[in-house]
Amino acid sequence: MKWYCEKCKKIHDDDNEMCPKIKSQLAKHPEWLTEAADFTVMAGSEVFITSQLLDKTAQGINKLAGTNLSYEGTQQFARDIQVFKRLSEEPFSRSGVFSNPESAKSYFENVRKISETSPRALSSFESKLTGYGQEVDWVRMKQGEVSNLWQKSTLLENNAPGVDGVTINRFTGKEISRTTIKASKNPMTSNSTGINDVKEAIQKGTATEKDIIFGPEGTEEAAKKAGLKNPVVEKNSSGQIQDSNKRLEQKILDGQASTAPTLKQIGSKMLQGAVVGAAVAVTISTITTYVRYKNGELDAREAFESVAEDTLKGALVGGAMGAVTIFLPGGVIGFVSGLAIGVYFGKVCTNILDEIFGKGAYGAILNASGYVYGMTFNLAEYYEKIEANNRRIKADVARADELQTEIESNFHVFEQMKGE
Ligand SMILES: [Zn+2]
Repeated sequence: MKWYCEKCKKIHDDDNEMCPKIKSQLAKHPEWLTEAADFTVMAGSEVFITSQLLDKTAQGINKLAGTNLSYEGTQQFARDIQVFKRLSEEPFSRSGVFSNPESAKSYFENVRKISETSPRALSSFESKLTGYGQEVDWVRMKQGEVSNLWQKSTLLENNAPGVDGVTINRFTGKEISRTTIKASKNPMTSNSTGINDVKEAIQKGTATEKDIIFGPEGTEEAAKKAGLKNPVVEKNSSGQIQDSNKRLEQKILDGQASTAPTLKQIGSKMLQGAVVGAAVAVTISTITTYVRYKNGELDAREAFESVAEDTLKGALVGGAMGAVTIFLPGGVIGFVSGLAIGVYFGKVCTNILDEIFGKGAYGAILNASGYVYGMTFNLAEYYEKIEANNRRIKADVARADELQTEIESNFHVFEQMKGE
């Protein structure tokens, strides 16, 4: 990025140089480097969520590891895990039924047995799949919107009355909107339970007419007929909801109702550590943008958008990652669809950081803040190596066979010579 610097009275070109004022600020605040890296990872994760770049990576891993990510798609894979997690945290938090796939399976098998005599057992369970599935779809929809770069949407816990989710400004923490989430596998009508619930909540004062109603197709018309003035956002048809329920039920029966993507699911029992799905570049431009945000020269949204744009340009997936040194954030940030997002530093940026902090010191600064260096591997490449080794072993075995035959025939010749 090129920008006019008030201090230096000149235009800086972030591709090759860093403003001297920003250099001296960084020298005084080495922690800003880590913060800039965090900021880059956050922006990068958003980019990966919206661009589906990671789907390609996951498919590469599948092909080599024989996992089920490829035909299902990482988006849906991650979505279903989120639904199971939500079931485990909300309706089944006490019973712990969804704390592991085995207990979820035996619970659901029991529900099916009971429903042979009382069908209500199954429909009550299915309404949970419908409701919590729709909640997760709301969060995922919000995460896919560009506004998610400066807004954060979260689901509320413990069946908060009237409202299910809130959207806040990431940087100021101020509430932007509240959403009530409704779901039904049957088409919505003005008399649907969901619509009546909203009416009741407004009468009781736990919801207002400003709260957004998020519901399946047909909700808007049903709300209007019921006399509600709330804004409505529609997502999923009754057919899509039924498909989701069927798929979730099958996963439970198959013992796949995990609440977190396990290493086993992404193709490995024997490996420990993070699976690096992608890496984004920390550049002079992203560091400069972050420091200028700290200085109040850019607002959070401008900074985030600019860094997001940069990360998309410098995003690495698959084999391209083998060529760079990757740092992984230590905390909860930087995980998308079970794959870790790391950062790397380009040559020009590394040179400038060496100049500011001393040779290689930027790595130590990141390490000290929990970034992990050198303990990562790229799963896709790892499998490639195993495959190559297997091929080599097979070739060696074939070669050994040949040698054996050769030795035997030589031996025969030798025996014959002895006999002569
Ligand atoms: Zn300057």
